[in-house]
Amino acid sequence: MGSVKGCRWKILVAVKQVSSLEEDFEIRADGRDVEPDFLVRDLNEWDEYSLEEAVKIKEAGAEVEVVAVSVGPEVADEALRKCLAKGADRAIRVWEDAVAGSDSIAVARIVAAVARREKADLVFAGVQSSDHSFASTGTAIAGFLDWPHAAVVNQLAYVQGATRAEVRRELEGGVLQLMEVDCPAVFTIQLGINAPRYASLRSIKQAAAKPIETLCLGDIGLSSADAGEAGSLSRVRRMYVSAKGRAQMIDGTPAEQAARLAAIIKKFTGAGA
Ligand code: AMP
Repeated sequence: MGSVKGCRWKILVAVKQVSSLEEDFEIRADGRDVEPDFLVRDLNEWDEYSLEEAVKIKEAGAEVEVVAVSVGPEVADEALRKCLAKGADRAIRVWEDAVAGSDSIAVARIVAAVARREKADLVFAGVQSSDHSFASTGTAIAGFLDWPHAAVVNQLAYVQGATRAEVRRELEGGVLQLMEVDCPAVFTIQLGINAPRYASLRSIKQAAAKPIETLCLGDIGLSSADAGEAGSLSRVRRMYVSAKGRAQMIDGTPAEQAARLAAIIKKFTGAGA
């Protein structure tokens, strides 16, 4: 476990390398995911905001270290490098073959284990990931750590070392909720909480040269039974594109439309056959 010298407080930011679909794509031969060649990858949008929020606390405090952590294969390094370029001090990626197929619970177990290893003071996650939209990993991290949490946070006041954070949460129908949360805590961060910075060319170059710490399950006190399908509470059975083109407009006078509708109903129910 590393630490930036002089930093006493640590914020762990869970970040995901998400995928979006190219216009034309194919489902994988086993029918459970999209063929990887048809995916475009980037840092999850929500995680841009949670990283920025952590970096802002660091800039206000001077003794705060921001550690980005991602559970994913080597390609997730791209997302972590983006975090390093935008102000994270360190980056950690957890992976081994047994992690493939992890659901949000298994991912949360892994992030929580890293938070314990790093002795983090706060953990930030995005409200949701744009590709899988489980919207559950952050709160599950809090569950594994047995820490309090606040979800859908759109304003956060925390100074380094504080025993409490003040947060504003976004509820349904424009209702807002102000809360005090004892720290250490987990917060899931909503879009719009801040204005994420752009990385400068210089910081992108510097980030490219920084190391990314790669850990396996054994390094964080877990085994293959804790990850992948073995450590998950849900499994994808099938992924498919819904059938299109089944709607039709019925034109004509009301009488003609009624007659046409009756004929369609008879056809589908077998009535009058
Ligand atoms: P989800 O629960 O999948 O909608 O994702 C919500 C948040 O959980 C994301 O914004 C990330 O902060 C975190 N998260 C999800 N998947 C991962 C992952 N593979 N590695 C690290 N953090 C993740």
